[in-house]
Order: sequence, then C-alpha cells, then structure tokens
Amino acid sequence: MNYYGESVTRLIEQLSRLPGIGGKSAQRLAFHIINMSKDEARALAESIVSAKTEVKYCSVCCNLTDSDPCTICSSSKRRRDIIMVVENPRDMAAYEKTKGYDGLYHILHGAIAVTRGIGPEDLKIRELISRLDDSVKEVIIATNPTVEGDVTAVYLSKLLKPLGVKVTRIANGVPVGSDLEYVDEVTLSRALEGRAEM
Ligand code: ZN
Repeated sequence: MNYYGESVTRLIEQLSRLPGIGGKSAQRLAFHIINMSKDEARALAESIVSAKTEVKYCSVCCNLTDSDPCTICSSSKRRRDIIMVVENPRDMAAYEKTKGYDGLYHILHGAIAVTRGIGPEDLKIRELISRLDDSVKEVIIATNPTVEGDVTAVYLSKLLKPLGVKVTRIANGVPVGSDLEYVDEVTLSRALEGRAEM
C-alpha cells in the first residue's frame, strides 16, 4: 500500500493512530499537511514536540502546565480557601470559561472505575490530601455526573470529611452521563451555584 512514497505513507500511518482518525481522514490530513508551506508544517511539528517535552504536572494542582506552579495556582487573584476537584484538565477549562469561579482547582486525572481496574491510588488523591491545611475551607467535588464520577465523589467525601473540611458536590443540573466539557456554560454555572454539602 505504498502508493505515495515512503515518507507520505509513514505520515498517514502516524496520523491514523490518533483517536477518531480513520484511514481516510489520515490521508486527507496528510495531504493537507503536504500542501502547507514549510514554515507552517514545521510550526505544527514543533508544537507537537514541545507540548510533549515542555508540559508537566503542576506540583500543586496537577494541571498540565509549562511553568510550575501553574498560572492559576500562582495567581494572586484566586481565592485560596476553596478547591474544586475535577477529573481532567478539559473540565477545568470548561469551568474557567464560565468565569464564575475564582478559587483553585485540583485535577484527579481520571475517576475511579473498578471495571477498568482504575482505583483511588491511580488518581491524584494523595496530592489533594497534602494540600488540605487550615486555610482550605471547602472542597467542591465536580467530578462528572456519571457512575464513575459519582463513585469518586462519594469516595472523596468519606475521605475528606473526617479531616474537618466542608465537602460539597455540584448540583444535578448537569444532564446525567454527560461529560462536563460538553455542557454549556450557563448549566455549569448553575451546577456550581447550586452545590450542596455531601
Ligand atoms: Zn496548579
């Protein structure tokens, strides 16, 4: 299947490994890239390499960041007495877009999923516990409104409440089974405002 020469075939192969990209899409993307200017193609390639080599986890909130601590953790404009726990960086970005939250975040990088062998020790829970000192008054659990997100929320609540911190869960305004990043900003803001103590 080497119709286009080795280098183009290799590009198509690499692109087709990406999630949601089938063989046809990979071909289309490969030809789009070949038609780019050399500078554009180089910028694309370099952005992939630098995203992979420069990015690290924030040592405070575990968000993806180039600088440690990340811009949110190091901002003087954020409240430090409230931490919102989300499953992944995309959820954090969704809440940031609402502009209705000025506290800090903690990124778990997943949710407890027993059927897939993902337990609490696979998530950034130890890192969350280590952040809880007297200055933190509330932890908002904003895991996704799915079975896995709910299991994680209950687990965290049982773990955190004995430590003397107020634990809340975002309201059920979010459609069940949906991923937070696809929920519109108004719904997210309402879910946050309507949070209730667990
Ligand atoms: Zn951070």
